[in-house]
Amino acid sequence: MQQIEVVVIGAGAAGLMCAAQAGYRGRQVAVVDMGKKPGRKILISGGGRCNFTNENASPANYLCKNPHFVKSCLSRYTQHDFIELVDRHGLAYHHKTLGQLFCDNSAQDIVDILLTECDWAGVSLHLRQEVLAVEHQADGRYLVKTTTQTFNCESVVIAAGGLTMPKLGATPIGYKIAEQFGLTVLPTTAALVPFTLHDHDKARFDGLSGISVDSLVTSASGIQFRENILFTHRGLSGPAILQISSFWKAGEFVSINLLPDLDVQAQLHDWRSEQGQKSLRNLLSTILPKRFVEALISDGSIPDKNANQLSHTEIEKLTETLTSWKIKPNGTEGYRTAEVTLGGVDTDELSSKTFEAKKQKGLYFIGEVTDVTGWLGGYNFQYAWSSGWACGQAC
Ligand SMILES: Cc1cc2nc3c(=O)[nH]c(=O)nc-3n(C[C@H](O)[C@H](O)[C@H](O)COP(=O)(O)OP(=O)(O)OC[C@H]3O[C@@H](n4cnc5c(N)ncnc54)[C@H](O)[C@@H]3O)c2cc1C
Repeated sequence: MQQIEVVVIGAGAAGLMCAAQAGYRGRQVAVVDMGKKPGRKILISGGGRCNFTNENASPANYLCKNPHFVKSCLSRYTQHDFIELVDRHGLAYHHKTLGQLFCDNSAQDIVDILLTECDWAGVSLHLRQEVLAVEHQADGRYLVKTTTQTFNCESVVIAAGGLTMPKLGATPIGYKIAEQFGLTVLPTTAALVPFTLHDHDKARFDGLSGISVDSLVTSASGIQFRENILFTHRGLSGPAILQISSFWKAGEFVSINLLPDLDVQAQLHDWRSEQGQKSLRNLLSTILPKRFVEALISDGSIPDKNANQLSHTEIEKLTETLTSWKIKPNGTEGYRTAEVTLGGVDTDELSSKTFEAKKQKGLYFIGEVTDVTGWLGGYNFQYAWSSGWACGQAC
């Protein structure tokens, strides 16, 4: 049995950040992970280039039952603090759209920075060990039992992530430990995830795979995102769809404005008076992907006519179709392809300063296992850094 002060379960973004911080405070820290490598989700993130933070991150970019919790956490270790850290390590990175920061070379650079920090802070890393159980002892210390050893420690930090990408080692251990100690776990669901379509819609959009359209997507509750939607062979994806999936509930429609920068009604009237002999097919194909226009003509959403044959009613109806195109997803692709897990350990159970469980001294929860979910765009890693940093000052 190894005696140690702190065991961090999970060598992901939150766990590594926390471990380094605790190590710098002079704590003896062991990080345990079942994977062969640390930071496996970091490595696959952002198409291998890791969108490691967002310059504009603010509490408004997160879903959480208690928004004050997120505010407190983000204000203590901000995106600017993380940017300062990567600058100190000489990371080469670039700005993409909407404040997103990506590595120039590879996500491995972010993992290397975290491992260097852990190394400097004297943290020991124990890979290929699945944590099976955490037990609280009469003397107030904990036993962390893995497939190969047992740690006896003062503090346990649960940084075991959510349920997404089971093939990358996602397990429900974090939620189970929370429940074991009587903490509320809010229902979980896959978020930032592509939609699947009902068979009739799949048939309608067969052949559109790979087409993307810059759109304004609106949820049933009125949340909006302006980015691309992408047709796939399974359904709908693309950044705007991933974003709206976090707000979508089964059975709801999403509404898609396919031409958000255009006064569509005025354009249709102009075409009718100025280019009346041209077909709608050809006119609309100048502003939308041709194959998509064909699909909407085939299913009757767009009349197969010349512009001067459109009645006022048809112009109104077509405007509605193009600016408020309604899709009712069949479901989502689920945890297999989702980027994050919505829900998790209720933040009301945790100190917003230290992430310690209010009713269980020495037990901490950070990162995705908690009920904090960011939008797409580097916000989830920022929460992992912020929560890991805060916990590292206390555990
Ligand atoms: C494909 C993809 C792309 C993404 N891209 C981005 C992006 O570009 N920007 C962004 O901000 N976010 C992105 N995310 C989300 C981001 O990866 C997560 O929010 C973040 O990794 C959460 O960090 P974490 O430390 O809480 O959990 P994780 O990174 O999931 O780490 C948890 C660790 O715990 C370990 N573990 C679990 N159970 C056990 C157990 N029983 N015993 C031992 N170890 C265990 C796992 O092996 C894992 O290493 C992406 C996610 C995916 C899936």
